[in-house]
Amino acid sequence: MLNQALNDLRANAGQVYDVQDIKLRRGPISITLSGGKLAFFSPLRDRVTGAVFIGSGHVIATPRDPAERLSMARFLEVPLLDQPFSRALFRFTDDTGEQLQKSLQESGAVAGSDPSFARAWDQIISTANPWQSKRILAEWLSTDVPPYFYAGLFKETGSFDVIVDREREEQVSIGQTRVVGDDTFYDTWASFPLPGVPRAEDSFAPVDYTLDTTVADDLSLRGHTALHLRALHPGGGVITLELSRYLSVDECTDGEGKPLVFFQNEDVSRREMMRRGNDQILVVLPAPATAKEEFHIAIRYHGSVISNAGNGVYYVGARGTWYPHLNVADSFASYDLTFHWPRKLRLVATGNSVETHEDQGQRSGRWRSAVPMAFAGFNLGDYHVQTLGENPKISLFASQEMEEALMVRIRTNSGTLIPPSDPSIRRGDIQIPIEPPPPSPAALLKNLGASILDSVRFFEKANGSFPFDHLDVSQVPNMYGQGWPGLLYLPTMVFLNSGAQQRAGANVQVQQELNEVMPFHEVVHQWWGNVTVPASYRDTWIQEAVANYLALWYTDSKSPGEHFMTRWLTRYRDGLVVKSGKEGKSGGILADAGPLSLGLRLDSSRTLGDYGPIIYGKGSWVIHMLRMMLRDPQAPDADARFEQFLHFVLTEYRFKTLSNADLQKSVEKFMTPAMDLEGSHKMDWFFEEWVQGTSIPHYVVEFKSRPLGTDFLVTGKLKQEDTSEEFTAPVPLYVARTALKPVFLGTVETLGKETAFRFRSHIPVSKILIDPNMTVLTR
Ligand SMILES: [Zn+2]
Repeated sequence: MLNQALNDLRANAGQVYDVQDIKLRRGPISITLSGGKLAFFSPLRDRVTGAVFIGSGHVIATPRDPAERLSMARFLEVPLLDQPFSRALFRFTDDTGEQLQKSLQESGAVAGSDPSFARAWDQIISTANPWQSKRILAEWLSTDVPPYFYAGLFKETGSFDVIVDREREEQVSIGQTRVVGDDTFYDTWASFPLPGVPRAEDSFAPVDYTLDTTVADDLSLRGHTALHLRALHPGGGVITLELSRYLSVDECTDGEGKPLVFFQNEDVSRREMMRRGNDQILVVLPAPATAKEEFHIAIRYHGSVISNAGNGVYYVGARGTWYPHLNVADSFASYDLTFHWPRKLRLVATGNSVETHEDQGQRSGRWRSAVPMAFAGFNLGDYHVQTLGENPKISLFASQEMEEALMVRIRTNSGTLIPPSDPSIRRGDIQIPIEPPPPSPAALLKNLGASILDSVRFFEKANGSFPFDHLDVSQVPNMYGQGWPGLLYLPTMVFLNSGAQQRAGANVQVQQELNEVMPFHEVVHQWWGNVTVPASYRDTWIQEAVANYLALWYTDSKSPGEHFMTRWLTRYRDGLVVKSGKEGKSGGILADAGPLSLGLRLDSSRTLGDYGPIIYGKGSWVIHMLRMMLRDPQAPDADARFEQFLHFVLTEYRFKTLSNADLQKSVEKFMTPAMDLEGSHKMDWFFEEWVQGTSIPHYVVEFKSRPLGTDFLVTGKLKQEDTSEEFTAPVPLYVARTALKPVFLGTVETLGKETAFRFRSHIPVSKILIDPNMTVLTR
């Protein structure tokens, strides 16, 4: 087997060279081997695909992109890669082998046998090989996969990777695996495209998926997935699919039922999971695809991906990888799902239920997508069901009981005082410890359903009509929610009343999150995340930020007197400007961890816990700032333009991917003259500062006021701190009045450290308020 042969490759002990001053250049990467020993891998199919080195070496790389230089500095204290190393493992399919050979010949290096040198590498090579083998195999068995170069560089403090791979969208990647406590991270120090090299394109796109899935009484799963694929260009010979490592593939066949060679999960390194997201299988086609060819493959698998959280609360642990699917950004396809499951349970799935029946102690059902779906999901349990509404019809599925972990927490807290805000105890009553019956998630279904339906109506105003004809809301344990096409996962806690939430340990803030944000955030994902999906990891914040912000907006609209939006925006801002005590970030604030466009890279060992505050908190602020700028307080519907903008994006990118550039173009269609700070009819300033940048400005105002006729002339300067010289923002100033609403004075378009202004006021000015309505994120 070719794959096995690749995995078995080792350094050639018979030819170990003494080397001196060898230089390798790969794009912006310069590697120098100053002195030491080097051996090549044994050839396979007449090709040498690796070399190892021990001695003294040095690597230098400088990314051009300022955001990537900042990222580098976050990990290395300096904005470039400039590191010595004492060992190197090179793998490649480009001309690295020839180049090294040439340098050795030119320097007259002689080779000798050195078994101990080769042996020192055996363990490292055998661990590193499977991932490299997959990459080499994909290239050798295709005609459209370009060559790559990899260097694993080792120094005393650990190893790091330098990758230049033209198959990737961002061809250059530098980073390392790092363990902190029990968690393993892959820290990407920098990732960027090679200048002038076109971005690699996916070889295949999904057309449709036909799944047949059987869930046994013990919750184990047997599945069969038939994939109908399309080749996007000629040459692809290997199909990479994602599938949970808890499912093992039994068989893989082509459209005629002939077996196909496949590889699964020999090594699933954390690095690979970080890059690709999940576990992989590689399916080898009999021959590379021809242009626009459509074909079928089928995969049979079995394993355990459904967990029992106790008391009949089940969940699909593998979330998106319970069936094999292509990992491409534009994953929209039709789905035809058939399930067979134990009779005592109910099953909900994405798509329209077209048929259910029961035989031999088993239930079966079929669901088909009415519109393209980016992914498919299901949930099952011993559910109570409540149905309400129409277009969409909302069905809620909740267990009579809650998962064991939650039950334990509630039992432990059963004697807690119920505060007087609980409707069961009248205000002023003496509080006595009471032992209420265990709460039931199924009890509150009607209320939850009604507020979800109400939120759908609210969101339809901005997003357009609900994308599916129904919405199934189902219970999952733990504290996460997820929005599948026409199907929500909401944590058990959301189904409980406030008293039960308290007994389960939810403090006020967690309760607000559970009751005021989470269900509606997941509802918004029905559009933002299912109608349009992120184009890359750099664009995922958009879906999260819009989902979160619209959820806040909905709850705010329900009780305008409670200043709910102000409370959440304040909480998010406080979270972003909090001093960060993390390593390598002395004196900084949390928001310095990185820009929104880093996406999941924010989940690094150096920025523990910063992903959430930035993606959800700062993300919400960015959408809020757009809304504030698009707002017309004089218009009958002040937010009409903002809503038109959202609707436009969802129409333009319906069942397509959405990138930061797409979003910017869409804002530019609706921007007002006041938003044109650079006079270019572009929103570059906004996206560079808030999406690609990390600054959060601080403002101080200095002014003088003197009478001018019946008015007052106000002159002064607005100081802008903690930003670059290019930072610009429209900052509104208001005149403060005792016991009265502040009066708008004027907007200062800031630039750099300070900006002078000159305004006329009808009223005397003794105090100026900077942006009291929170239209700009400041510290
Ligand atoms: Zn979300």
